[in-house]
Amino acid sequence: MSNAFDEAQQQLRRALAVYPVSDDLRARLAHPEREVTVSIPVKMDDGSVKVFEGYRVQYSSLRGPYKGGIRYHPDADINEVRALAFWMTFKTAVAGIPMGGGKGGITVDPKELSRGELERLSRGWVEALYPVLGPERDVPAPDVNTTPEIMRWMADEYAKLTGDSRNGTFTGKPLDYGGSEGRGAATGAGGFDVFKALQAELKLPKSVSVVIQGMGNVGGNAAKIFHALGHKVLAMSDSKGGIYSPDGLDPDAVENYKKENGRLKGFPRTKQISNEKLLELPCDVLIPAALENQITKKNANNIQAKVILELANGPTSTEADDVLFKKGIAVIPDVLANSGGVVVSTYEWEQNLKGEHWSEKEVLKKLRMLLTRESKNVYSRSKKLKTDLRRAAFALALERLEGALKTRG
Ligand code: GLU
Repeated sequence: MSNAFDEAQQQLRRALAVYPVSDDLRARLAHPEREVTVSIPVKMDDGSVKVFEGYRVQYSSLRGPYKGGIRYHPDADINEVRALAFWMTFKTAVAGIPMGGGKGGITVDPKELSRGELERLSRGWVEALYPVLGPERDVPAPDVNTTPEIMRWMADEYAKLTGDSRNGTFTGKPLDYGGSEGRGAATGAGGFDVFKALQAELKLPKSVSVVIQGMGNVGGNAAKIFHALGHKVLAMSDSKGGIYSPDGLDPDAVENYKKENGRLKGFPRTKQISNEKLLELPCDVLIPAALENQITKKNANNIQAKVILELANGPTSTEADDVLFKKGIAVIPDVLANSGGVVVSTYEWEQNLKGEHWSEKEVLKKLRMLLTRESKNVYSRSKKLKTDLRRAAFALALERLEGALKTRG
């Protein structure tokens, strides 16, 4: 069982020590408002029926409708989804968008399903959960292993079941199905904006070297953006392992190679490296962009990066946080660093409800302005409270959550 929720609560306790809040808020944040576990029967291609377990955790609606992705992973369980929903509560508050926190999941390895099975499973998740969803209630989105196409199936199923044609219940949809310009690359692009906003404060050179763990939507897009803007991508990896070149990689070429060969191994002029060793490479910016609990007390001492930009959710344990802080390695926390995805999701929701379509330029400019402002906000709080960026980001979120609680009464 994942212990991510214990980690998340530990982070909260540490933040409360530097930024105390009312007993009322503290008590509320210890528990999700609602958790739903459902069984999803799926007709498999061979005619048999298999039942999958699905989840939605609605952690906090203090600041708006629940918001957060749906994860498809063999290790996804209610405990992990609860932790991810908790982090969404803080992420939407740090970004200052009018949303609460939620998360969903299905325990499944989607690589083992055919396209048809995947579609029936995704529609089944909606059929089981649609009564608790809706544009004013809970707005899901993609997460690990869920794609715009899956969002289209889900949005379509929701519209069929409810007759709601506003299309504002799911975000991260394809562009021709009510999606927003810029949503695809938003988490990576937002991560870059946060890095830019803090680059000088964290004393990073003009052109940095980066190491990226994970090349799904988030890691893949981050690699392309850092590379395109003149930085050197030293290493990339997928769930099986990574490749490394001191001369730097071309992320597009790496992605094409993986598409053709199904793996990274054998990419010309690179050394193979395990996901564990990749984290310990010397570099300016280390970007974990895969799963939780990658940097722990076991390896924290071996980290040689100057700064860690958390594009995954929960990649660093609290024990590792302390080691890294002592070593002078700044950790730009997930709730700030990877918030670009949910910010553009919220722009998508807004466009759907208003019947508008904003240009990519407009979306990315709004995103950059928001993330630059909130990154500086988090940084100045860390100086004022004499603490790390994670506690500072939580403090900013707590201030906004407390404000919401007060106005609601
Ligand atoms: N799954 C993403 C996250 O962890 C995006 C959530 C969303 O767009 O609502 O932030």
